Amino acid sequence: MRTTTGWQSTGNSTDLRQVAIERRELRDDDLAVRVDYCGVCHSDLHAIHGLVGKPTDGLVPGHEFTGTVTAVGSAVTGFAPGDPVAVGTIVDSCGECAMCRAGQENFCYQGAVTTYGGTDRVDGTVTRGGYSREYVLRDKFAYRLPAGLDPAAAAPLMCAGITMWEPLREAGVGPGSKVAVAGLGGLGHLGVKLAVALGAEVTVLSRTAEKEAGALALGATDLVVTGDDEQMKRAFGRFDLILDTIAAVHDFTPLLRLLGLQGTLSVLGAPLETSVRIMELTFGRKNLTSSGTGGTRHTAELLSFCAERGITADIELLPSARVGEALSRLEKGDVRYRFVLDLADLD
Ligand code: NAP
Ligand code: ZN
Repeated sequence: MRTTTGWQSTGNSTDLRQVAIERRELRDDDLAVRVDYCGVCHSDLHAIHGLVGKPTDGLVPGHEFTGTVTAVGSAVTGFAPGDPVAVGTIVDSCGECAMCRAGQENFCYQGAVTTYGGTDRVDGTVTRGGYSREYVLRDKFAYRLPAGLDPAAAAPLMCAGITMWEPLREAGVGPGSKVAVAGLGGLGHLGVKLAVALGAEVTVLSRTAEKEAGALALGATDLVVTGDDEQMKRAFGRFDLILDTIAAVHDFTPLLRLLGLQGTLSVLGAPLETSVRIMELTFGRKNLTSSGTGGTRHTAELLSFCAERGITADIELLPSARVGEALSRLEKGDVRYRFVLDLADLD
């Protein structure tokens, strides 16, 4: 066993404690990665609070990180010590089912192994995430971090970014597309940047007008306040695609009414339980869909697109010892737009 250090939750509390963590000895196709930067995702909060079916006690969160390869297994040919890499929400999958063969390992029929709170396919241990100084994973699920992308600001591309990218790509968004992003947080701000870079006209749907200047600075053309009936009425039928990143249970009806003919509401936020009146879909033949992060095909594509366009997240970088502060501020919506932990303080 290899020993490292990380931040672990106990009893649903966001007050994480520093603990020693064991990582497995390298298998033939494994990499050891020194974790340099790890983003703080709202899903980490949901997981700590037990809302997404992951163990809440002894949880080491973190599923969007960048780092440096420190060792490679005997069969690894694509990476060498010193290589900069990025890792997202999935660290293994069966590799054989139709989803895996399509590069959609995120939907593996055997169950993709999530970066934390998942079950390793070989030894059955529970995975522990990137709020730690070292991670060990199969080479297939590490991506070379393109030169030119700041490693701290690139870390959120690996969850927040890919969760926006897959639905944007699958909807064929490009010049002429009218896209709205509901919720301007970690996912939402990257949704705006990516949709704008693809050539779409982008609107932010937010609880608050206070985010308008920020939305425009990200490239959006306007911001609609979701609680303002007049503004919502004016936006009826306007959009081809809405990326819904709202991090709480909410009514989809007002959002569906903003879609034009055959428009699509893609619900990306969790928790996802809700009910919908089918008539809201009937009128306009609208689509209600969802998605979960991304597979290797889209992730590789996202990283090269971001390298080409110079796209990364707008972050607040904190030493990892301040993880509790990051989580509690995220819970209050007090972040522009993503916290990233610098794990160097764990040395
Ligand atoms: P975040 O930074 O906290 O952003 C969420 C945004 O939702 C907020 O900025 C806020 O935007 C809006 N919101 C509206 N009502 C809210 C409420 N009652 N409580 C909190 N936020 C509210 O979170 P995130 O990291 O972007 O994640 C967003 C959601 O996506 C979370 O539920 C997360 O678990 C989920 N997620 C899903 C996937 C996936 O694969 N599908 C991947 C990652 C994350 P305004 O202030 O502008 O209204
Ligand atoms: Zn996430």
